[in-house]
Amino acid sequence: MPGRMAAGRATRAGRLAYAGGHKAEESAERMSEERLRTEVLIAGAGLTGLTAAAAFASAGIDCRIVDPAEGGPRSDARTTAVTCGSQRLYATLGVWRALRARAQPIRRIRVAEDDVPLFLHFECDDIGEGPVGHIVRNDDLSGALRARLETLGVPLAASAVEAFEERPGWVRARLSDGSEIDSRMLVGADGRASPVRDLAGIDKRTHTYRQTAMVCTVRHTEPHHDTAVERFFPAGPFAVLPMRGRRSAIVWTAPHRVAARLMQLPAPDFQAELAARFDGMFGTPTVEGPPKAFPLSLVLARRHVQGRVALVGDAAHALHPIAGQGFNLGLRGVALLAELAADHVRLGLDPGDPRVLAEYAERRRIDTATLVAVTDGVNRLFSNRLPGLGVVRALGLGMVNSIPPVKQALMRQAMGIAAGMAGPLPRLIRGEPI
Ligand SMILES: Cc1cc2nc3c(=O)[nH]c(=O)nc-3n(C[C@H](O)[C@H](O)[C@H](O)COP(=O)(O)OP(=O)(O)OC[C@H]3O[C@@H](n4cnc5c(N)ncnc54)[C@H](O)[C@@H]3O)c2cc1C
Repeated sequence: MPGRMAAGRATRAGRLAYAGGHKAEESAERMSEERLRTEVLIAGAGLTGLTAAAAFASAGIDCRIVDPAEGGPRSDARTTAVTCGSQRLYATLGVWRALRARAQPIRRIRVAEDDVPLFLHFECDDIGEGPVGHIVRNDDLSGALRARLETLGVPLAASAVEAFEERPGWVRARLSDGSEIDSRMLVGADGRASPVRDLAGIDKRTHTYRQTAMVCTVRHTEPHHDTAVERFFPAGPFAVLPMRGRRSAIVWTAPHRVAARLMQLPAPDFQAELAARFDGMFGTPTVEGPPKAFPLSLVLARRHVQGRVALVGDAAHALHPIAGQGFNLGLRGVALLAELAADHVRLGLDPGDPRVLAEYAERRRIDTATLVAVTDGVNRLFSNRLPGLGVVRALGLGMVNSIPPVKQALMRQAMGIAAGMAGPLPRLIRGEPI
């Protein structure tokens, strides 16, 4: 197996024995007493890995996180649109109470194409489930998750998973600090470049969009009335996401060479270009701080699992940010994986049992494939100048806007509360404890 490493000395009498799983019990005896042991080892302390740890620990499953970036400077200029379903997960995990005062609700969404009179307008009151979602600063979410993990007693270490070796019933990971950890399940939450995915020998599909997302915050002179706006230009989408006060986060997508030119402009010229797209929506915008650039690509793991390794978040699927759904998709995966593991543990079984991972992989397949197709398709449809397509786009927006059931179905999808072909929503996303 790829990622193979020298096997350490195996000793007897593992403490992680599961009453119902005889095989697991036998192999637990071969887990080392001298090494660190945990039920679930999570590689990656990004937002996905931190959330996964909160979900496992809340269900009483022993877990720990390792990440080489721990202890270093960690600041992410971005904001994230957390859907209604994801907010329910955070409320259930006891994370939301620390975030509520900093999160900005989205109560209406306006989708429009440049220069086209037809548009799509969503009002959260049409659904009656509260805000469509919230905009949170990534640093605030990370801080709230870390505080929760401290309360739950989840250890976090500055180290990378460098190799692992799978044995029947457990997996041994070797870390960059030279130590080893034995676990029932290794969770790869290590981002789009996922070393764990590569070590597990899981292939990936990649596609570059030849686009860069420029991210910044603007102050504006008029209130946004809790409105998120997505304007489509031939060069790419321009999203304006409400923040607390008269401020909004901008995610402005353009082809690489256009973005490179814009990023090199002196601040007043960049601001003038941005103001032209902003088009006086909420008065005059003023850019706060320098913009940051994120080259965009699709990275899709061919499988979500291999043996006792499960991929979550960007390690499994890194999408185009056009619909602000990539992280939320990852959270549905985290919620499902923790739920299946907890159900197994309650039966006295092993949380990393191959049946847990097989069901996780099967149920995530459809949700992931659907969202990849939607984000990819919408980006292709709107980011071009092909003659005729403009009419199709305008008619499409106008039609959806005028057919309430279609509009409401779309909105429930965007809110992350629509059960689909992928089966029922995980309990955490429904706001129920695991
Ligand atoms: C411009 C932009 C805007 C976005 N907006 C939204 C939005 O509004 N809504 C939304 O849902 N999504 C959005 N997304 C997507 C979202 O940002 C990502 O899906 C999310 O940040 C992924 O988090 P992650 O924890 O999976 O990965 P990462 O944040 O990449 O974290 C991975 C972690 O793994 C660690 N690591 C790496 N190698 C190892 C190793 N060997 N062992 C242990 N740890 C390791 C890294 O140090 C890192 O800390 C956006 C993306 C972009 C680019």
